[in-house]
Amino acid sequence: MVIALQISSQVQFIQAPFNGYDLQIPCLLGNRAVLIDAGMDSSVEAWILPFLQKAGITAVSEVIVTHAHMDHFGGLGRLKSHFPGLSISVGGADRAWVESPLLHWEQMYEVYTGEWNPHDNYRESLLKQCGTPTLVTRSLQWGDQIEIGCGMDLSVLELPAHSPGHIALYMQGGCMLFAGDVLQGRGTAAKGRLCTFPLYVDPVDYRASLHTVEDLDPTWVCTSHFGTLDRAAFSVKIKQCRDFDDELSERVWAVVRKAGEPLSLRMVADRLHATWYREYADEFQIVATIHGYLKWLMGLRYVTSEEIAGRMHWAAR
Ligand SMILES: [Zn+2]
Repeated sequence: MVIALQISSQVQFIQAPFNGYDLQIPCLLGNRAVLIDAGMDSSVEAWILPFLQKAGITAVSEVIVTHAHMDHFGGLGRLKSHFPGLSISVGGADRAWVESPLLHWEQMYEVYTGEWNPHDNYRESLLKQCGTPTLVTRSLQWGDQIEIGCGMDLSVLELPAHSPGHIALYMQGGCMLFAGDVLQGRGTAAKGRLCTFPLYVDPVDYRASLHTVEDLDPTWVCTSHFGTLDRAAFSVKIKQCRDFDDELSERVWAVVRKAGEPLSLRMVADRLHATWYREYADEFQIVATIHGYLKWLMGLRYVTSEEIAGRMHWAAR
């Protein structure tokens, strides 16, 4: 209990909301100050630096990036300019996207061109929030230990699905998991906007990642967008993740099975959105996640794919 109390004062959370979304950035104060994630470019001046200043923290020695999405790595360039000695760590499979926002744009978003068409300034505003391209200091993999001191050392878990190289950090000293965006639940609500659809590009990886997190049996789970969960809230969230996966598995399969003709990814997404998911923004996330389910159904031999007029189409076997 004493340890838990001590740790709770040394784990601080920087609240860095953007566009109606909640975002909390853990700041660990051990033998050195370490941030878990960097927010996006505008988060640094708006939230991170004012927090550090108020807390009397004059230097940050490391940022550990949970995954290569702009609201988690976009602040790196600006942080590095304030703290030139800053080291940057990220899961190996996400490293190239963190180092090259343009590559991140091409491989994460542009691969869905034709199936999802971003509005005019989507690309520009996203790249702007990815900040100045910054080189990573080290790639992390499963089991790596990160020394923070004061009983707060972290071990690295590789939990792909939301992004290819997503990692979480487990602090054994406090039974505390820094989970990033591993738990997608039923998506992310933003104040005054439609919900963002859960994003995971491979449902099999997603199930494995949920299983790993649950097996750890953490006392506290610090998420980026759903706050910090105690055991009860964590088990509700895990169930919500699993229920959504079950539901979406069945619905994607039902849409393809009942179509009677091959459907493009866009057509599958439109039907799902119109029938069941109107409360969600019709954005990139719905297309990317459904694509993962179509590939999964193809792997199970339920579905075949063929190219029609230059676009991939999917049909029940
Ligand atoms: Zn994310």
